[in-house]
Amino acid sequence: MTRIKNCGSILRSRIENGRDMKTVLERVLAKTEIIPECGCWIFMGQLNKQGYGRIGRGGRNGGLAFTHRITYQYLVKDIPYGMHVLHKCDVPSCCNPHHLFVGTDADNNADMISKGRAVYVRGEQQGIAILTEQLVRQMRASRLAGESVKSIAQRLSIKYHTAHKAIVGINWKHVC
Ligand SMILES: [Zn+2]
Repeated sequence: MTRIKNCGSILRSRIENGRDMKTVLERVLAKTEIIPECGCWIFMGQLNKQGYGRIGRGGRNGGLAFTHRITYQYLVKDIPYGMHVLHKCDVPSCCNPHHLFVGTDADNNADMISKGRAVYVRGEQQGIAILTEQLVRQMRASRLAGESVKSIAQRLSIKYHTAHKAIVGINWKHVC
């Protein structure tokens, strides 16, 4: 079981500074919905094409950070340089530190192959598919968290009916 750091000090320092700046961790957590069935913390904000959550680090030149890396870094421990934060649950937008682990490039590649991401598998083999199995799982999780199909489709820049068919299981039946 992943050991979670006490984030009280992060919250306290914000109050002591007397500024109304929310820490990046607070901003991630404010946009996260917990799915009771699987325990995933689904980030409901901006996602990239692979379905990973991203958020501004803050400040003018802070750039974007991956949300799962933020929760891991703040709630578990620092991520060594060049290391990946990987998902045990295979839901890219999940930020639950219990579902995350740190791995090397080789671990990342092995993980992708074991989860069928680096090879073509059924749905993705058909040529017309623009979704990946990982994204379909992710969309279903977002829908379970209460997000509308319309909003999910807009967030991922895909057509409404494509999202609807994937979410209700008309397409992508083999993904569970
Ligand atoms: Zn998860």
